[in-house]
Formats: sequence, C-alpha cells, structure tokens
Amino acid sequence: MDNLEITAQKSSDIHHVLQHIYDTVKDNHKGTLPDYIPELAKVDPDKYGLAIVTNKGSIYSVGDVETTFTIQSVSKALNYCIALELLGRDVVIGSVGVEPSGDRFNAIEFDPRTLLPYNPMVNAGAITIAGLIYDHLGDEAYEFILDRFSKAAGRPLQLNEDVYKSELLTGHRNRAIGHLLLSTQAIKEPVDKALDLYFRQCSISVSTLDLAVMGATFANLGQNPITGIQVFDMTSIRNTLSVMFTCGMYDSSGFWAHDVGLPAKSGVGGGILGIVNRQLGIATYSPLLDINGNSVRGIESFRMLSDEFGLHAFDSTNRGSGLVSHFFDH
Ligand code: GLN
Repeated sequence: MDNLEITAQKSSDIHHVLQHIYDTVKDNHKGTLPDYIPELAKVDPDKYGLAIVTNKGSIYSVGDVETTFTIQSVSKALNYCIALELLGRDVVIGSVGVEPSGDRFNAIEFDPRTLLPYNPMVNAGAITIAGLIYDHLGDEAYEFILDRFSKAAGRPLQLNEDVYKSELLTGHRNRAIGHLLLSTQAIKEPVDKALDLYFRQCSISVSTLDLAVMGATFANLGQNPITGIQVFDMTSIRNTLSVMFTCGMYDSSGFWAHDVGLPAKSGVGGGILGIVNRQLGIATYSPLLDINGNSVRGIESFRMLSDEFGLHAFDSTNRGSGLVSHFFDH
C-alpha cells in the first residue's frame, strides 16, 4: 500500500490511513536523543504517536498519543501569538523580525540590518518574546502563559520540574543570547526573568493529543473546538501561522514548506505541531531527532499525511480544501 489514494468516506478509512502511516514509519529508528539538556536524553526513544483533531472537535489518533513530553520550541509559536495579542503587531515586529534565519535554532546570530533576532521561532527571537511578555505582565507572566497553553490543550498542563531544572543548569548558550539581546537593547532588564520564563515555557509537559487540540484551536480561529473557549486572538493567529510556515522547522523550513506545505513548529522534546488552516490540528511525537533538531519520524509522518490527504497548501488536487466537510467530520 505505497500510494494510498484517498477515497475515504468514513472515519474508519481515516483510521486505516493513520494506521498505515504509523506501521510504515515506526520501523524508522534513525536520529538521536538530544543530550545538551541531559533530562531530554532520558526518554524512551521508541515512543511514537500521531493525532489529528478537526476544527469541529473530532479526534483521530494512533500510537502513544497520551505519553507526555516537554513542549520545548513548540511553545515559541504559542507565545508569539500571545505577545502579538498583548502588545500589538508593531511593538512585536519592532523587537523580532520575521525572516527565516537559515541558521541553527540556537545560533548566536542576529539580522545584521536591524541587530534584532531573525524570527520568533529561533531561540534568540523566542527569548526576546519571553522578555516582552515578562515586561508586560511581570511575575504573573508564567501563570498567564500556562493558563493559555492549558486552555488551548483543553486540560490543565504542568511544568516538568526535572526538565526545567536541567535547562536552568545547562542553558549557558541561551543565557549568552539573553545578555547579547540586552546589549543590543532588544530586551530589557531583568534578563534573568525573561530567560526563566523561556526555560519554563519550554518545560511544560504535553501529550501528542494536547498538541493536536492546540493545533485545532489555531485552526479554529483561536477557539478550542472541544471546550468552546476562545483562547487566542484571531488576527494574531494569522501572523503566527505565517511565521510558522516560513520559519517553524528551523533550517529545514524551506524543505518543509516545499514537501509538506503546512505551518508547523517542532521542538527538541520530539513533538511537531502542524495546522491545516480552518480545518485540522495535527501532532506527532517521536523523540529521535535529525541534525536540525526535528523529529525524524515526525517529519516522515507529516510528509505521508500531507501526500495521502492532499494537505499541502498548494496541492494540485486541492483535496485538502474540502477535507473536513467531506470526510473528517461526518
Ligand atoms: N529549550 C530548548 C533550547 O533552548 C528549546 C529548543 C528547541 O526545542 N529547539 O535549546
């Protein structure tokens, strides 16, 4: 069953396709666990889950979709959306660019024209966004973002204390980036508070299902389709999805846009969150990472999903455009 043509008319067909993808991808054991944050290397490398939630709240999943892992850089997309809402586009764009960097996620590189971080999806940009949020909300900032993340997932989320401590102990490079940002005035004192918010946001525990519901919340114009709660501001979602499309997969964002064609964000915890605008939240979890810091099985799963269901934004068959109404939600 190499190229499964979509003739799905009922939910069992969708489960069948997901199972096919799962069975194909699970034998891929390539990639490595990240050990620069030691706690991240302690997870089971074989875990693998795949979940889809529609903008009407239907759920499709296969594999270890309830295993929790830390959200890591997927948090950058959510915090960008929150910062846009709290501070407005002009303030945010005045502090962080929206250009792909072509560099590693933790590169100590700034846009030479502006001296600002290239975009909010690399560490420098995300630390700046954390600084903006801290500056606006003060010591309430972490509880505020945790509450938003929880509302987006539709359940109360928690910090993974061990990963948080591990990030605190080993995050020297992120501290260096924070202090450079201070020197260029991209962020203000207290830089330690911005960094602490950044380390905490990365250490929030989620499951694959949580990420897929978060994605469906983005897809559903900011309203969680399961709880009905409005979590994010609609205009901010537009800008967030744009940056996810161009910058969400680090220095393989070009390849991703080309082959998968969806706004997405990955994290070194092994999660990938993807969105089919106005239709679906899609999430994968598998902790073995490629050289860019993206989940190997996650990438392969998304490639297959995009092909099988015609989800690419520029898919010639345009099957993705009617997906939900045609077969995901009946
Ligand atoms: N906490 C991680 C770091 O700062 C997040 C990076 C990632 O997920 N790519 O290095």
